[in-house]
Amino acid sequence: MAKVAINLSTGSIQQEEIIVGIDLGTTNSLVAYIHPEGRQPLAINDQGRGTIVPSVVHFPGGGDAPIVGTDAKQYLLTEPQNTIYSVKRLLGKSYHDLGQHAEELGYKVIDDNSEGLVKIRVGEKFYSPIELSAEILKELRLRAEHALKTPVNKAVITVPAYFNDSQRQATRDAGRLAGLEVLRIVNEPTAAALAYGIGLSPDEEKTVAVYDLGGGTFDVSILRIQQGIFEVLSTNGDTYLGGDDLDRAIYDHWASEYQLSTILFQNPSAQQELRLLAEQAKRQLSSQDTFEADFGGTTLPLSKAKFNELVQPLVARTITSCRQALADAKLTPQDLDAVLLVGGSTRVPLVYEAVSEFFQQPANNSLNPDEVVALGAAIQADILGGNRRDVLLLDVTPLTLGIETLGGLMDPIIPRNSKIPTKAGRQYTTSVDGQVNLKISVYQGERDLVKENRKLAEFDLRGIPAMPAGLPKVDVNFILNADGILKVEAIELRSNTRQAVEIKPQYGLTDDQVEQMLMDSLTHAREDVAARMVIEARTVAEQMLYQVERFVAKNGQHLTEEEISQTTAGVEQLKTALTTQDKDTILKAVDELEELTRPFAERVMNISISQAMAGKKIE
Ligand code: ADP
Ligand code: MG
Repeated sequence: MAKVAINLSTGSIQQEEIIVGIDLGTTNSLVAYIHPEGRQPLAINDQGRGTIVPSVVHFPGGGDAPIVGTDAKQYLLTEPQNTIYSVKRLLGKSYHDLGQHAEELGYKVIDDNSEGLVKIRVGEKFYSPIELSAEILKELRLRAEHALKTPVNKAVITVPAYFNDSQRQATRDAGRLAGLEVLRIVNEPTAAALAYGIGLSPDEEKTVAVYDLGGGTFDVSILRIQQGIFEVLSTNGDTYLGGDDLDRAIYDHWASEYQLSTILFQNPSAQQELRLLAEQAKRQLSSQDTFEADFGGTTLPLSKAKFNELVQPLVARTITSCRQALADAKLTPQDLDAVLLVGGSTRVPLVYEAVSEFFQQPANNSLNPDEVVALGAAIQADILGGNRRDVLLLDVTPLTLGIETLGGLMDPIIPRNSKIPTKAGRQYTTSVDGQVNLKISVYQGERDLVKENRKLAEFDLRGIPAMPAGLPKVDVNFILNADGILKVEAIELRSNTRQAVEIKPQYGLTDDQVEQMLMDSLTHAREDVAARMVIEARTVAEQMLYQVERFVAKNGQHLTEEEISQTTAGVEQLKTALTTQDKDTILKAVDELEELTRPFAERVMNISISQAMAGKKIE
């Protein structure tokens, strides 16, 4: 397909524009590009502020004008409710996916009791992780534009290899909301390998391990690289293990060894100070043998030997993951051509030693571990920009393919720019009790509402056995072959009822139309996401009303009169909120009704609402 770039300020189509590579990290984010003369990847350091932008978004006073990065980080302990960190953990996830981890966050994730994507409450506003990630991306984009003195509208963004479709789509949406056309979502280990110069030549065959220990997460991936294609053979890790835990180990050691508990008790600024000292100690011990600091008159020392002893169990856990990853890939250490280190925490000498020992070869730590992923993303961007003749570009699908879900929303199944042939699928369910038919409408395009996209086909899956809403499981699979023919099939798993169509998505579509559709998706990104959020809020609210009313009708005899009248009031409030079309008002009423009904809903019937509401509904 033609390569289009849109200048957002003029609306004109540009050629030969800079495409940046972005590492959107859990703890830190960076943007990099290929220097046009040096042809080397470089992390952008705007105004000497450093290359690293902490992935923290702070809303001063709970208002709606956020600040991002180092300036936001200082509010983590003093204003936790207005300061969002680690939002990457929430991307593309529902409240159910988070489980007990929702309570560990300093800010409020609302419990809408659904499979819908999570929302975060800040003051009177509700944000999706997509919007919050978009704030981080916007900051990176601004820094790039400022440093490079040119508009930046295109990017390659990295995600962990284990991210699922929904998390990848959420990352794309965040990019679009930040005014970036996301040319490709690339796996972080793939980007790391590219940065280390692996996989650039088509006749190269290599097997590598990528060990990535960041601030809050750890993952290890085994990659096979063949003819410029990166295959993930296995991944393993722990999404709750990283540098923060090393800091925490030091913190706890000091707190108990030097009787600091009275000073720290209910004192966020003292806690913050000690946490920062712990991180400082850890960093210093990566290059020196001792550390000492003063904490309110108490001297806190830490030797490297003591530090190693404290973090040894944590490092051992990462090695267990490495062993598992290698076993899953059915390989031994001798099969690996290289072991690549990624992530700030791999600077800890004990980590380097443990990894090198386990893989029986010196790990490669020759690149700056904070920057590796962003540098690799910049190289991938350069390849997609067609600036590297030696690397082959594969056929891709120019527009997203998806289906319509509740409220007329587009649910993308195969994202644009996916290499073809490709296959993807998702599971759906019914929204009404006893529903026996499911309409599958297939669309093409980048907009959030299907009415703005191009309809390709529609068919009914009939003969679903009558069951309560949410119980049937319908798999919808998209299979796009090398000739660009799309087969869409829907299968109800219990009865094995199936139905399929074949379509040629590119039929009758000109390059100009594709360009126009891409341009529209960027210029309408804000209003589209806003419309999507209102529809999602309405869907959650309507389902909640349906369930609560059904619950009260069924279990009224177990409730006190007061509970019933409170619930009725909450229901009325939600109904009124629904008439406003304002997502914050609706979600606030949902949040309140849920808080109100949870205690007795749990008491009366553990299975009730949550079970019946599981699963995503089509129509
Ligand atoms: P992520 O990819 O999860 O966003 P990073 O790769 O940026 O995270 O890693 C951040 C972590 O690296 C932090 O916990 C930080 O303390 C740690 N780190 C940075 N520099 C050093 C160092 N010199 N020694 C030890 N740890 C470090
Ligand atoms: Mg990282």
